[in-house]
Amino acid sequence: MMDKIVSLCKRRGFIFPGSEIYGGLANSWDYGPLGAELKNNIKREWWKRFVHQRTDMVGIDSALIMNPKVWEASGHLKEFSDPLIECKKCHERYRDGEIEKTCLKCGNSEFTKAKQFNLMFKTFLGPVESEENVVYFRPETAQGMFVNFKNILDTARKHLPFGIAQIGKAFRNEITPGNFIFRTREFEQMEIEYFVKESEWEKHFDKWLEEMRVWLRDLGVKKFYENEIPDGERAHYSKRTIDIEYDFPFGREELYGLAYRADFDLKNHSEKSGEDLSYTDSKTGEKFIPHVIEPTWGVDRSVLVAMLEAYHEEDAPTAEKGEEEKRVVMKFPKWLSPVKVAVLPLSKKENLSKKAQEIYQDLLKDFVCEYDETQSIGKRYRRQDEIGTPYCITVDFESLEDNAVTVRDRDTMKQDRIKIEELKGYLNNKLTI
Ligand code: ATP
Repeated sequence: MMDKIVSLCKRRGFIFPGSEIYGGLANSWDYGPLGAELKNNIKREWWKRFVHQRTDMVGIDSALIMNPKVWEASGHLKEFSDPLIECKKCHERYRDGEIEKTCLKCGNSEFTKAKQFNLMFKTFLGPVESEENVVYFRPETAQGMFVNFKNILDTARKHLPFGIAQIGKAFRNEITPGNFIFRTREFEQMEIEYFVKESEWEKHFDKWLEEMRVWLRDLGVKKFYENEIPDGERAHYSKRTIDIEYDFPFGREELYGLAYRADFDLKNHSEKSGEDLSYTDSKTGEKFIPHVIEPTWGVDRSVLVAMLEAYHEEDAPTAEKGEEEKRVVMKFPKWLSPVKVAVLPLSKKENLSKKAQEIYQDLLKDFVCEYDETQSIGKRYRRQDEIGTPYCITVDFESLEDNAVTVRDRDTMKQDRIKIEELKGYLNNKLTI
């Protein structure tokens, strides 16, 4: 299944191997035109839902490289590591516990003792490569929200409970990246730090869990698992964590996470920075450090799951002349589809092209739209099916007479004849369902 998705992504321009003309770079991937649209649809919807449509949220966009003291206070410098083991024969490296007794490369069963390997990417700030100039690429977006807590309190006029959201890149020098875009060293997160009174954390934890369930449903995910992480296995800062897991073709793995971080971050940043990061209740005058609920979504894992759920191979019984009997169709929820409408003139004849171009240019103002007049109509439908375009518009010779076009539905393959002047209204209706 993964092979099919990877190959479709490459073939149709969703996702390409990174730096491909130079032989690639291990496990790095570039989003092509359709992948960038799909990813942006996810990020845009998330921002709309959790920032714009709520009165208790604000969004930020903070720097990728932060003062290293941030990572000292957050515990990442000390704790953000995985146990690394190395095969004594071929020196292949693994995360401890990742493999059964023998090396996957050479079959040897002797390994070095596990040593902790910090996952943060290091670099130098400025031209001098010295110890005091070492900085790190952020391994999560979360700390950007904590270090701006006071700025936001001072400027955004929010009262508890309220949250700060951010979408952005994070970097982790993973020991064993892989499974396409599931685990990479550079990836994107959508994170929320939601600040609450300690006494109310459970209520808000439950509310965010429900929000995550609704999000998953809207992404087209039919089945997922809520894994309550037991004491002793949670991240160093967390008092309760639920991993949202999904049955990927390579096994059940984490998709998103929901954590109660208590007052760990704000307390530590207060102590280490000397800034007072407490909150004063305007009604009671009570002063305290807020507690935090953190829902986290991986953008790339969202893309992967959306692709896996959308992928269908099916017989095409109503196949027209020139169409193959089998089709691959990406049944994305319509809001996710990278292209919403394709305009396909039946032939390249000049008068048809002209009419089709007019329709296309007009639709472009309202929809992400493609124009395609190469190959047979059957092949063009197949391409649009494979990229998940909900509606194909065929302009035929009759269109010149009756000012109407044929609209084909991706899922049912049924065709409606629609007057050109009613086309936008028709599509708008269909696309908002
Ligand atoms: P895992 O157990 O898979 O390593 P994690 O528990 O380290 O994940 P978090 O620190 O909770 O992950 O990160 C939040 C989210 O960021 C994850 O739920 C996932 O969607 C995403 N994510 C984390 N690491 C990666 C990665 N290397 N590549 C792609 N996405 C990632």
